[in-house]
Amino acid sequence: MSIAERLQAVRARIAEAARTAGREPAEVQLIAVSKLHPPAAIRAAYDAGQRDFGENYVQELQEKQAALADLPEIRWHFIGHLQSRKAREVADGKTWVHGLDSISGVEKLAARAAERDVRIPVLLQVNIGDEASKSGVAPKEAAGYLERILAFPSLSLRGLMTIPPEAGPNEARAAFRRMRELRDTLSNRFGVELGLSMGMSGDFEAAIAEGATWIRVGTAIFGERKA
Ligand SMILES: *Cc1c(COP(=O)(O)O)cnc(C)c1O
Repeated sequence: MSIAERLQAVRARIAEAARTAGREPAEVQLIAVSKLHPPAAIRAAYDAGQRDFGENYVQELQEKQAALADLPEIRWHFIGHLQSRKAREVADGKTWVHGLDSISGVEKLAARAAERDVRIPVLLQVNIGDEASKSGVAPKEAAGYLERILAFPSLSLRGLMTIPPEAGPNEARAAFRRMRELRDTLSNRFGVELGLSMGMSGDFEAAIAEGATWIRVGTAIFGERKA
């Protein structure tokens, strides 16, 4: 199958999952995760109507942004772990940052954005399964982080992001549900609208059922990655 055909199949699955959950398909934004795939693959997806792309590595993101600068409507999402010393590279005011999970990262990103007089859309990464191997803040710490983020005018808080435990579909769905509950609690507490970035190739339907507003899908669109 071509990238355009795979993309179409993924879009159909998104629409079906949304309808099953009683949601509008348009409430779910698809981020095509293009890490380790060449710019030509991104171009093919763009030509098929895809606009949002996700990358995990700062250098690779920058190379692709340069190679694809002629695509006027492309929107980049940095979905990897952001090291504070790399904050400058993603602080262009256009790239969304999904993986914020440290106070130093928040502070550095806010400072770089302020220097450039831009506002960066950010999401706080939550380690919903409390796994030692995963990035993200513990659920009980999330409120404190949101307070810090909201204090910086150069950061525009858009929601919460997570990667669930890989224990199986039931566990993933339960983790997505806990994310939704956490989001609802925090949204009420701070009086802000918060989205949910969750769901990948193997579990995005469950994520949509639990309220995902962005899903991050790589393999189902671009095929296996050659690491
Ligand atoms: C690689 C990656 C994805 C995409 O995963 P697939 O299983 O290929 O869909 C989504 N989110 C994050 C954070 C990733 O690192």
